Amino acid sequence: MAIRNLRYDGDPILRKTCKEVTELTPRIKELIEDMFDTMYEENGVGLAGPQVGVLRRLFVIDVGDGPLTFINPVIVEKSGEQTGGEGCLSLPGKIATVTRPNHVVCEAYDKNMEKFTIEADELLARAICHEYDHLDGILYKDVADSPLCNVDDYEENNSGR
Ligand code: ZN
Repeated sequence: MAIRNLRYDGDPILRKTCKEVTELTPRIKELIEDMFDTMYEENGVGLAGPQVGVLRRLFVIDVGDGPLTFINPVIVEKSGEQTGGEGCLSLPGKIATVTRPNHVVCEAYDKNMEKFTIEADELLARAICHEYDHLDGILYKDVADSPLCNVDDYEENNSGR
């Protein structure tokens, strides 16, 4: 078990485009385990390669239904819409309202480099879109409907809705 150092907003590595994973090397396997350790330690629901300084097309997610590894993911279908608060381990303590597809179909390779297709709704769909954006150097604040605000102030600002 190893916790990796997180990269934070302002770090240029978060703005780079990631390269595909070509081979499941011991180094990549270790990276995946460390990414889960780091995500759970930080109470996140997702973590992408660049957030731990690795420019590879890979992310991990656990929205409460168990760990999911996505290597070289492609979002092949998006539909519907959901609007809600979103945060990121690279922007600690912040939140903003982001509109995302409510349903996505994503193809990727799992931790054994076996191809899979997942249909995701609601929070899982949101997490996939958020993590996928990281692989192209996009942060949620770039696509948010509202300015970033502190988590503690968020409910207050939206209580009128
Ligand atoms: Zn993020």
